[in-house]
Order: sequence, then C-alpha cells, then structure tokens
Amino acid sequence: MIGIAVLGSTGSIGVNTLDVIAQHPERFRVVALAANRNAARLAEQALALRPQVVALCDATAARELAARLAAAGSSTRVLAGPEALEEIAQLAEVDYLMAAIVGAAGLRSTLAAARAGKRLLLANKESLVMAGPLLMAQVRTSGALLLPIDSEHNAIFQCLPHGSRAGETPAGVRRVLLTASGGPFFDWTHERIAKATPEQACAHPNWVMGRKISVDSATLMNKGLELIEACFLFSLPPQRVDIIVHRQSIVHSMVEYVDGSVLAQLSSPDMRTPIAHALAWPERVTAGVPLLDLVRTARLDFCAPDTGRFPCLALAQAAASAGGLQPVVLNAANEIAVSAFLEGRLNFPDIATVIERVITKATAGAIRSLDDVLQADSEARRLAGEWCGRNQSGARSAYA
Ligand code: NDP
Repeated sequence: MIGIAVLGSTGSIGVNTLDVIAQHPERFRVVALAANRNAARLAEQALALRPQVVALCDATAARELAARLAAAGSSTRVLAGPEALEEIAQLAEVDYLMAAIVGAAGLRSTLAAARAGKRLLLANKESLVMAGPLLMAQVRTSGALLLPIDSEHNAIFQCLPHGSRAGETPAGVRRVLLTASGGPFFDWTHERIAKATPEQACAHPNWVMGRKISVDSATLMNKGLELIEACFLFSLPPQRVDIIVHRQSIVHSMVEYVDGSVLAQLSSPDMRTPIAHALAWPERVTAGVPLLDLVRTARLDFCAPDTGRFPCLALAQAAASAGGLQPVVLNAANEIAVSAFLEGRLNFPDIATVIERVITKATAGAIRSLDDVLQADSEARRLAGEWCGRNQSGARSAYA
C-alpha cells in the first residue's frame, strides 16, 4: 500500500486526485489531507478516507474541523497553521505527496517533500516558478522523484526518452512545444477584453479549475508560468520551449527531436489522466476519464499566441529569459493582481499593467537562498498591493 498525502485536497486538483485514488483502494491509502480554511469539505473527506492526520492553515477553521471530527467520533489528528504542511510532507508514512496548494503558499511544503525524498507529484507550478533552482537542487540531493501534474508537462514527460528524470536535459530533444487552449478570451477584441468580468474569466472553454489558474489561463499568464516551469523541469533554455495555441485541448504538448520527429500526448481534457499517470508511473492505471474519440473530435487546430492582446505572456517570456529573481517578482505581482481582479478591485487589462510596473521597480538579482526568494516575493507583493490600491477607482468605473 502506498501512503499518500494530498495538500490542497479541497481544491480542483485535490478532489480529482482523491477520485483517482478511490478507484484503486488496493494500491493507495490516504495518509494526510490539508487545505487552507474549507473545514466542511475537509471534514467530509477525512470521515470518508480516515487519514492519520489532517491540517488547515487557518487556525479558526482548524478548530471548526477538530470539532466536526470529534462530533463524528473520528480519531484523525488535526493540525493547524502553515508549519503543519511541512510536518506532513516529512511523515514517514507518506510515500507520495500531491502538491496541489495554489500559489506561493505551496512553496515550503513542496520544498520539504523534495528534501524528504518523497515522490513529489507537482501541480503547484508557482513553487517551481519561484524557486526552481532550489527545488531542483533539493530533488537532486535527496533523490526525490519529481513527476509533473500540469497536463502539458506531464505530456512532455510522457514523450521523453525512457529513463528521463526531471532536472536533466533529455537526449536528442530539439525543443518542446507547450500547447495553450487560448483561454475564454481567445477571439475577443481588445475593447471586449477590457471589460471582462471575473465570471467571464473563470468560464474556461475546456477545463474546470480553481479561480486563480482560470484567470491565469484567461490572461495567458498560465502559459508563461508553464514556460518557466518547463525550463526547470526539463533543463532547457526558454528559446527551446515554444508555445502554440490549440483550441481543442486534446494534444497536451509535444516534443520535437533532432531527427525531425515530433511526439505528442493526446487525451480528453481531464486532469485525472496526468494524475493517474504520476500516481502509477511507470505502470498505468485507469483514471475514470472518457476515452478519446478522434473521429468525433475531427479537427486539431494550431496557431501562434497573440502577445498583443495577452501581454502577460510576453512579460513571463521576458522573466524566463532574465531568470534569477524576476520570475519570483512576476509570480508575486500576478498573485496580487489576480486576487484584486477577482475581488472586483482591478480591471482585467490592469493585471498586466501592475505586473509590468512591479517588475520595473522591484529588486533584481540572482537566487542564492530561500531568503532571497522570500524577500523578493514580499517586496513584489507590497509594490503590487500599492498599485492595485491606486487603480481601485478605475476598476469601479469600468464595472459601472
Ligand atoms: P483551487 O483553488 O481549486 O484549490 C486550491 C487548494 O489550495 C485548496 O485546497 C485550498 O484550500 C488550498 N490552499 C489555498 N491556500 C492555501 C494555504 N495558504 N495553505 C494551505 N492550503 C491552501 O486550485 P487548483 O486545484 O485549480 O490548483 C492547485 C494548483 O494546481 C495550482 O498551483 C494550479 O496552478 C495547479 N494546476 C491546476 C490545474 C487544474 O486543472 N485545476 C491544472 C494544472 C495545474 P481551501 O479550499 O481551504 O481554500
């Protein structure tokens, strides 16, 4: 029995992970679950799966969780606070850890799992974007196995030569091609995009995801973060990671080899496929996903992304080339701007404006330690917060 911890179990990836695990009770056992403040859903999951330990970062919500579990006679231990995530990541009973917390909040537990030599199933792309060199160094030192959950990176991993490991440049590869759905505003004009609401931004045509990644998909920042993620995972420079828009989200990414061969991974757009792949690797297990019907799909279209209407992608490409602390700043400014947008305090196009301003102002430099990362992250959050504050009146008038 393989012991699994799911961090971010109440979110979209977390729930999909538990769904796949439930299909293979002879193979996997849930040891730990964690989230931020959704006590009701975590209590439900804990009562159904009876893990050894559960944790909520928010202390009040953790008390509510403990009360719910005690009332139901559960013996699951309840932890509170961000440190609990790192504690879970190091538990001896945890063989595999699903890192599915959204944003920078997932960084420390992801690093802890890598340090502890776990099989790390990485959905939390922000931790690679922020601390790619540190995370990959931990993985190398501890011998942890890092398997990507992002459908694009999982697809690339599946198309690499047998024996490839994260952090090593794969032999014979000329470039990788990351596919992008183009998001809900793919064919919208500049003027229409300028008035986009959070509900419209979260209505993704092909995927059902959390709100933050949905907005990232609408701005194409998600593809920019994935570009940076791919550079670290496959040890490639940004010039060897191309982005191509593919509206159907059937081809999840491709690898081009020096002999001209291009290998692609195809499946229905359902995160349970990459989750099942990483859970079972190198074997295969069922995922509960509808099988692909190519005759029904009929067409696979591709085109170049438009960085004019989606400037966040260009900002991320520039940060990938600059390297060092710039991806940290990009990620932090993006997190602040996206949450301001979701709260109705910022217009959609101002997400890119805020990020650009913060990058111009923030301290640049190399990443030598986690402290460098955390300092750059908090400076960028402060600068972005100031800009979002200044833009508030503009946002209100646009929604009026
Ligand atoms: P959701 O918003 O659906 O879920 C986020 C999860 O993180 C929730 O369980 C939430 O807990 C938890 N969380 C948030 N903040 C904290 C915190 N401070 N401490 C502990 N837990 C926290 O996000 P998704 O599942 O969509 O995305 C998760 C990650 O996976 C992201 O990095 C995303 O980019 C990546 N990803 C997602 C894909 C998808 O299809 N959804 C595809 C590829 C990658 P609570 O519910 O209590 O708030």
